[in-house]
Amino acid sequence: MNVGVLALQGDVIEHRKMLRGLGVEAPEIRLPEELARVDGLIIPGGESTTIGKLMVEFGLDRAIPVRVGQGMAVYGTCAGMILLARTARGGEPPLLRLMDITVERNAYGRQVDSFETDLDVPAFGPPPLHAVFIRAPVIEEVGPGVTVLASLNGRPVLARQGRLLVSSFHPELAQDDRVHRYFLEMIRSAA
Ligand code: GLN
Repeated sequence: MNVGVLALQGDVIEHRKMLRGLGVEAPEIRLPEELARVDGLIIPGGESTTIGKLMVEFGLDRAIPVRVGQGMAVYGTCAGMILLARTARGGEPPLLRLMDITVERNAYGRQVDSFETDLDVPAFGPPPLHAVFIRAPVIEEVGPGVTVLASLNGRPVLARQGRLLVSSFHPELAQDDRVHRYFLEMIRSAA
């Protein structure tokens, strides 16, 4: 299995490390043609405005949806989640609009309001998942095809729609690899 990490901006290295720890090749993806090599793609956290603009510049805003239509899975963390959303509040960058969710950017406040917490994820079972939130977005509305996997204060922070997975937080910055393993399992079961 080959899972690429979109390497335009953001915490690319940490995702690649986590994937390699799970025995998966994790090439950096910058060009549309490189998407042909991967079964899954991670869009990392960073700055969604920057990543969104670069996606358009490189033609990835068109190429990623085409590959998703062909079966490629995508996991978006934080800024990556914003880019997958149908709608974003609080300043809308160029979006892929692949997932039926509305997100609110910077929903917990500014950089100083970043925090860590433990989340109950019924699909994973115990122990709770340690989650790092950095200027994180939240999901405000979900469409009927979306399954919420974890919430914080009543708002979804981990969700799935078919081959798409999103999290408000950064599992690649913690020691727990269960979200990445879940994503790999999504790809395997779709194959
Ligand atoms: N606040 C950033 C944005 O709106 C996301 C932050 C992150 O990815 N950690 O794009």
